[in-house]
Amino acid sequence: MLNFTVGPVQSCDIVREIGAEQVPYFRTPEFSKIMRENEALMKKFAKASGDSRVVFITGSGTASMEATIMNVFDETDKVLIVNGGSFGHRFVQLCELHHIPYDEIKLKTGKVLTAEMLEQYENAGYTGFLVNVHETSTGVHYDIDMISAFCKRNNLFLVVDAVSSFLADDFNMEALDVGVMITGSQKALACPPGISVIVLSPKGINRVYEHKCKCMYFDLNDALKNGERGQTPFTPAVGILLQINARLKEIEANGGADVEIQKVVNLAEDFRNKIKDLPFEIVSESMSNAVTPIHPLTASAKEIFEILKDEYGIWICPNGGELAETVFRIGHLGNLRVEDNTTLVNAFKDMQKRGLL
Ligand SMILES: *Cc1c(COP(=O)(O)O)cnc(C)c1O
Repeated sequence: MLNFTVGPVQSCDIVREIGAEQVPYFRTPEFSKIMRENEALMKKFAKASGDSRVVFITGSGTASMEATIMNVFDETDKVLIVNGGSFGHRFVQLCELHHIPYDEIKLKTGKVLTAEMLEQYENAGYTGFLVNVHETSTGVHYDIDMISAFCKRNNLFLVVDAVSSFLADDFNMEALDVGVMITGSQKALACPPGISVIVLSPKGINRVYEHKCKCMYFDLNDALKNGERGQTPFTPAVGILLQINARLKEIEANGGADVEIQKVVNLAEDFRNKIKDLPFEIVSESMSNAVTPIHPLTASAKEIFEILKDEYGIWICPNGGELAETVFRIGHLGNLRVEDNTTLVNAFKDMQKRGLL
């Protein structure tokens, strides 16, 4: 199968080979060294300050979203949430569940957040701001410079879910004054799902120290303490952490985060150029390089997904909920080449010939 979903995505050979090996014992100096390398490279690629820290959670991206909410906010906070789709809605659900006072800015599908929308929230007693910088469900990438400036002006602690945007779009954690950045193993890191990553700025670390977490597994205080010796409180997904290590070193050897981002940019641009003659409409006001969200004008999105899966050996990313029939997404993350874009576009053209598109 050729995989154009947004995760899990295709892994490179080095990562796949590690998956075939025995998983080693991990309470060793050798594994601690690997964890320290993972922390250093994650900080470097997120462009975090030198005194930032990184926590690796065994659990998917949502686990790190929840761990963050539980460790940096409490009932005395008041946070603003950008809700432009299912991932924004997830932050709303988490604040509800954990009794964090919040207001949400609800956006229409495909629409960006504007400076005008933020105006009414200036000097309004908020303490935090939660955003999924790329709302993967609709393929909308928000203006993080504008959000960062708003948070700096209003002294808000900024939490950025960059799960699908990390290594796909430019991001500078220190310059943007981001308190917490979250990502996951199965998106641009192109490893199996199972690990998510929380990068904490010094302000973020302080918030963790100041809050008592009412959860043993997601206690970031404990995670930070263990991390000092390159370890985790409990058995992590050891194999995936080894795969992440190989992948981070591969990115570093190829020139670092900016080179990796440029690879995704090239793939996305190539694909967007190749579909110009197809009966497709792009349905986002501002796209991430990670995903192209498409409304097919002549057929059901869900049927296109199924035909490509069953008859062409290609996975594209279906949408759920209200958009299931009208929108599908093409991911540009993971081990893909421009030749793979051609294969996909040729499949679309063949479907067109068969009267299916
Ligand atoms: C994929 C993704 C997540 C994490 O989802 P999980 O299924 O928990 O890994 C969170 N936020 C965004 C924006 C995502 O794209």
